[in-house]
Amino acid sequence: MDRRKLLSFLGLGALLASSGAAWAAISRSRNPYYQGPLSDHFDGLLFSDGRTVKKGLIDVLRWQTGKREREAFPQLYEAPPQDKPPARVEGARIVHLGHASFLYQVSGLNLLIDPVYSDRASPFTFLGPRRVNAPGVAFDDLPPIDAVLITHNHYDHLDIETLALIHRRDRPRMIMPLGNDTIVRARIPDARAESHDWDAQLDLSDNVKLTLVPSYHWSARGAFDRRMALWCSYILEADGRKIFHVGDTGYHDGSLYERLGREHGPFGLAVLPIGAYEPRWFMSDNHMNPDEAVKVMLALGAEQAIGHHWGTFQLTDEGVERPPEALKAALQAAGLPEERFRPMRPGLSWTAYPLPALPRLRVDVDLEVRVTRIVQVADVFLEEGILHDDVLRLEIGGDRLVGGIDVVIGRLVHEAQRRPCGRGAHPEIGRQRGRLSAGRNCDRQHRIEPKALIRRLDEQRERPPGDRET
Ligand SMILES: [Zn+2]
Ligand SMILES: [Zn+2]
Repeated sequence: MDRRKLLSFLGLGALLASSGAAWAAISRSRNPYYQGPLSDHFDGLLFSDGRTVKKGLIDVLRWQTGKREREAFPQLYEAPPQDKPPARVEGARIVHLGHASFLYQVSGLNLLIDPVYSDRASPFTFLGPRRVNAPGVAFDDLPPIDAVLITHNHYDHLDIETLALIHRRDRPRMIMPLGNDTIVRARIPDARAESHDWDAQLDLSDNVKLTLVPSYHWSARGAFDRRMALWCSYILEADGRKIFHVGDTGYHDGSLYERLGREHGPFGLAVLPIGAYEPRWFMSDNHMNPDEAVKVMLALGAEQAIGHHWGTFQLTDEGVERPPEALKAALQAAGLPEERFRPMRPGLSWTAYPLPALPRLRVDVDLEVRVTRIVQVADVFLEEGILHDDVLRLEIGGDRLVGGIDVVIGRLVHEAQRRPCGRGAHPEIGRQRGRLSAGRNCDRQHRIEPKALIRRLDEQRERPPGDRET
């Protein structure tokens, strides 16, 4: 046995002995994290996502000690320069912090998802996968954090030391699936930790909503607490836009994502894991590969996706750059442009609806002023042949104006990016995704005058709800 295999074994042994709560679970045959009513995914002891996954400790040993085609990560895998996020963002800005960690700045809120600032994704400071690049934002550069979201309790997602640091600094709300709050409170007794079941809907602010939904995965902190705390994905809805965030998932038969797409979609963005997938015989139950991630993006009806869970911690056998390479090949094979699904790197950010700078209006501005301003912008869209009037009418009609000018304009850009030529958008927009550009009209006959738009909006306001033109 070579040194690496020996260390793997030692790591495994130490893992077995690492969790006191887990030992208690064995002795009492009782879930140490959660007691609550039975459901279709909780049998009183264990959680389940409905699949039968037969792999166990024997398979871990077979993977760790068998013939492996492991392609080692380099000691250092340089990332882009660290990001310096603004204090608050009105639209949506997402910065990758490395592996599965993100800073979300959405409609004035600052959220961390699965933040890991520790050197290793492991229960130990001296053993386990070590990071090969620094977090994408230095800890001291993080803006004030309002809430932390945890998808599940694996060490590369729930890093208790990072949670302790952020609790000490900002005392944020901490949201996680059932049972995980017990783990957090064991280390941080006064943490504002709360846990919720799948399908729970929470208000993070007046205009930001969060929904917990299932993923195909599992959980464990030690060897004897498997599936005793729940795992989840998140749907974040802000100002009418939806983002689907997955921490870890297998693909299985994809039916879960078709259902979630039907029930909650469409999504402006899907944030999906694309790494930790080799060897397939062992990993495919709980980690999808880039090919499957593309299928999930399509099943969800997401316009764009960004890929994470690669390039920082080596958890599995594929080399550091295999996930982005495989993603590129998968997009090519599916006939999709590379811009549709970008692999993230620590320090890179994604911004929703990048717009030319627009004058900001006061919040209490009169509706008439807002309508005029929106119509001015709408006129630009019409001039440039970016959107047809029927789309504009739908998007800025009636009570949809309540979101404020940024939101309405965001929706217009969103529509422009979404619609193929002939149904409201210029093809150039589809190609450039996210960048406004002048171009030929698809169909000039559909143009209408801004004054006519104002008139129609006035008429709509006059009419009782339910009688609106759509
Ligand atoms: Zn996991
Ligand atoms: Zn993971």
